[in-house]
Amino acid sequence: METVILAVVIAVVVLGAISGLVVSGRKKKQLPPSPPAAPSAPATPSVTAPPAEPHVGEEAEAPSDEERRTIEEVGLPEAEAPAAVAEPEAPAAPPAPAIEVPEPTAGRLVRLRARLSRSQNTLGKGLLTLLSREHLDDETWEEIEDTLLTADVGVTPTQELVDRLRERVKVLGTRTPEDLRALLREELLALIGTDADRSVHTHNGIGTNGDEIPGVVMVVGVNGTGKTTTTGKLARVLVADGKSVVLGAADTFRAAAADQLQTWGERVGARTVRGPEGGDPASIAFDAVKEGIAEAADVVLIDTAGRLHTKTGLMDELGKVKRVVEKHGPVGEVLLVLDATTGQNGLVQARVFAEVVDITGVVLTKLDGTAKGGIIVAVQRELGVPVKLVGLGEGADDLAPFEPEAFVDALIG
Ligand code: GDP
Repeated sequence: METVILAVVIAVVVLGAISGLVVSGRKKKQLPPSPPAAPSAPATPSVTAPPAEPHVGEEAEAPSDEERRTIEEVGLPEAEAPAAVAEPEAPAAPPAPAIEVPEPTAGRLVRLRARLSRSQNTLGKGLLTLLSREHLDDETWEEIEDTLLTADVGVTPTQELVDRLRERVKVLGTRTPEDLRALLREELLALIGTDADRSVHTHNGIGTNGDEIPGVVMVVGVNGTGKTTTTGKLARVLVADGKSVVLGAADTFRAAAADQLQTWGERVGARTVRGPEGGDPASIAFDAVKEGIAEAADVVLIDTAGRLHTKTGLMDELGKVKRVVEKHGPVGEVLLVLDATTGQNGLVQARVFAEVVDITGVVLTKLDGTAKGGIIVAVQRELGVPVKLVGLGEGADDLAPFEPEAFVDALIG
């Protein structure tokens, strides 16, 4: 009997133990993972050391919900950033967008050829048609002249071209379409120039302290010409060519400019140095180059303000931006952005900017929307510097290195 009771007791104990194990095992699965032992307080980003933006090729870690809440509660609005010197990092890093791979730059103008030929039809094809007339009388030559002037080629270059064409057509005698096309191609190329160095100078410079510094490119131009867009597109051109880029948002007068530039930068993994709205553009430009040096970036692109209504203010400011950047080292390139659709007005702008800073290259935007491609000739003459890039649309990769041959070929197709 005792043995039976003992057996029953043992069975009950064993069963109890087994069921206890199962229950505690289930409970364990339902428990959240134990908190880490080390930190005693939640991670609160400090005002002085905000989370950094992603570096080139690096995935940014998005803040957790809790961290985001903390940032909001602590309240780090942009306006409260120190007014004098712009901190490179934005207070709260948004989740990193996917980094895009821009199109290669080689052959972009050929790819965009259709847009050019569509918009410049009256110039190239118009000239060919006129030259193909059976009788090239004075009236026809006047029409040729008008076609060139309407396309904004400018008075002197137009006269030069017409004189050359008249002379050569006379010598040619019989005019086959092929002959005429070849002749016009040659003369248009001579007018635009094929010898100029049209590369954007982005090679490293030697800093004032004797060390290598990134290539520095300043982008200047009147608001609305496409300056910020062009700076963003140029970042893509450089990234496509395998360079690392830092952007400086020194257009602090147009409210959305810094956001716009930062978005362009994020798309290709380039950091944007920015400051408070209305802040000192020169100090942002200075910090951008400082950041470029710290990151050992290849190129620093600086977008500048473009208000023209206060010419003296603009002059002082752009000159100052350049001088302050030069405390680090040389500015390798000053690109003037001109809107091709503005015609003669664009030339006036070019003159004003050239008084302020030494322009080293021109970017002609919106060539897709105008028949006034002749402005290329006029602006090169006006400033004595080459057109280096052309904008042919609003797409991210619609900025192309300017190649005279591809341009003329698109014109006379
Ligand atoms: P900013 O004030 O000079 O910085 O001008 P934005 O960069 O904001 O550009 C003004 C407008 O011009 C924007 O709508 C751009 O998309 C547009 N834009 C810029 N470049 C081109 C171009 O090459 N072609 C066309 N069609 N639009 C352009």
